[in-house]
Amino acid sequence: MKKKYRIKTSCPQCGCSGVSHLSEEEMKKRYGDVPNIELECHECMMVMDADVKESEN
Ligand SMILES: [Zn+2]
Repeated sequence: MKKKYRIKTSCPQCGCSGVSHLSEEEMKKRYGDVPNIELECHECMMVMDADVKESEN
């Protein structure tokens, strides 16, 4: 079974939030093996920590 990840973001500045789903391959391609992922808010461009969780499907 393939691993999937759920990445949850919540911007402390403008309050927008979002969830994205990535497969293991996509995670490695984009972020490597880094456990802490930082993303830019698409609204205000603030860099924020993303909460990454493994998900079953
Ligand atoms: Zn923001």
